[in-house]
Amino acid sequence: MIQKKDMEVAPRDIISRNIMREIMAGGGFNNSYVHLDLRHLGEKKIAQRLPGIRDICLEFTGVDPVADLIPIQPGQHYTMGGIDCNTEGETAVKGFYAAGEAACVSVHGANRLGGNSLLDTIVFGAIAGGNAAKYVQGLEGKKGEGSLREALKRAEQKIDALGKSGENEIQADIKVALNKVMDSKVGIFREASHLKEAANDIKILQERYKRIRLNYTGRRANLSLVWALELKGSLDVAAAIVAGALAREESRGSHFRTDFPKRDDMVWLKHTLAYFTPDGVRLDYKPVNIGPFEPKERKY
Ligand SMILES: Cc1cc2nc3c(=O)[nH]c(=O)nc-3n(C[C@H](O)[C@H](O)[C@H](O)COP(=O)(O)OP(=O)(O)OC[C@H]3O[C@@H](n4cnc5c(N)ncnc54)[C@H](O)[C@@H]3O)c2cc1C
Repeated sequence: MIQKKDMEVAPRDIISRNIMREIMAGGGFNNSYVHLDLRHLGEKKIAQRLPGIRDICLEFTGVDPVADLIPIQPGQHYTMGGIDCNTEGETAVKGFYAAGEAACVSVHGANRLGGNSLLDTIVFGAIAGGNAAKYVQGLEGKKGEGSLREALKRAEQKIDALGKSGENEIQADIKVALNKVMDSKVGIFREASHLKEAANDIKILQERYKRIRLNYTGRRANLSLVWALELKGSLDVAAAIVAGALAREESRGSHFRTDFPKRDDMVWLKHTLAYFTPDGVRLDYKPVNIGPFEPKERKY
C-alpha cells in the first residue's frame, strides 16, 4: 500500500496496481479510468514544472490540468527485458550488438526507475554503437560478406513467401487478438490459469499467422509487409514473456502474481533467459550481478 508520504515518488508498478484495484472495485469511471488531480499545484507551478504534461493533456484530451481532473489508466510503456547483452552491447551472437530499449544490459531489474531509459539509450547505446562500428572496421577484407548475403537471401525468401500466400488471415485481426490476450491475461495482475490460457491463445495466433495474407505486395513503402513482419516478432516475444511469467512463481517489480504475491529471493533472484526453438520457448536463467547494495524487500 502506498503511504501518503511517498506521494509522487511512489514506484509506478505499485501505483498501477492500486489504480487497477480501484477500477476493479468499481471506484473508477466508465469502468476503465481514474482521475489525477493536479489543481492544488496552481497554474504557476504547473507552467514552471509540468509544461509538457499540460501540453499532452490539452492536445490529446482537451483537459487543462490547471482547472480539470485528468483521466488516467495504467499502460504498458517500457520493456524491462530485451536482447541479452553485456555492458559492451555484445550479445551471444558474435558481431550482433543490442542497444536502447530493445537491449537488456540488466541494469533495471524488474522495475525500471523513472527517467532511467536514458541509461539504455545514451550510455549503453553509445557504447554498443561504438563497439559495433569498431567490429565492422576490424573485419578483414570481405570476411563476413558471405554470411550477410546468406542472411539477406533468407530474409528475401521469407518476404516472398508472405507475398505469395494464397490464404486469408489478416495481420490487423491477429494483432488485435494478441493485444487483447496480453492485456487481459498477462497484464498488471497475473496468475497461472490466465497465463496458461494466454500461452495457448498465442500458439493459436502463431498458427493463424502462418496463413497471413498481405493487403499489398509491392516492394516500395509497403506498410502491410512491415506490420506483418513486426507481428511475427510480437508473437514470438509475447510467447517468451508468457513462458517466463508462468515459470516465475513469485512477485517482483512489475511482475505481480496474485497466486504468488510475495517476492522470493531464495529461488528467484535470477534473470530469466528465453530462447527461440522450433518447438517453442526454452527458458534458462543466469545469476544477478549484485553491486555494493544488498537487495532488500521493498516495504511501502
Ligand atoms: C509514453 C512514454 C513515456 C516515456 N517516458 C519516459 C521518461 O520520462 N523517461 C525515460 O527515461 N524514458 C521514458 N520512456 C521510455 C523511452 O522513451 C524509451 O525507452 C526510449 O525512447 C527507447 O529508445 P530506443 O531508441 O531504444 O527505441 P525507440 O525510440 O522505440 O526507437 C526504435 C526505432 O526503431 C524503428 N524500428 C522498429 N523496427 C524496425 C525495423 N524492423 N526496421 C527499421 N526500423 C525499425 C522504430 O520505428 C523506432 O523509430 C517513455 C516511453 C513511453 C512510451
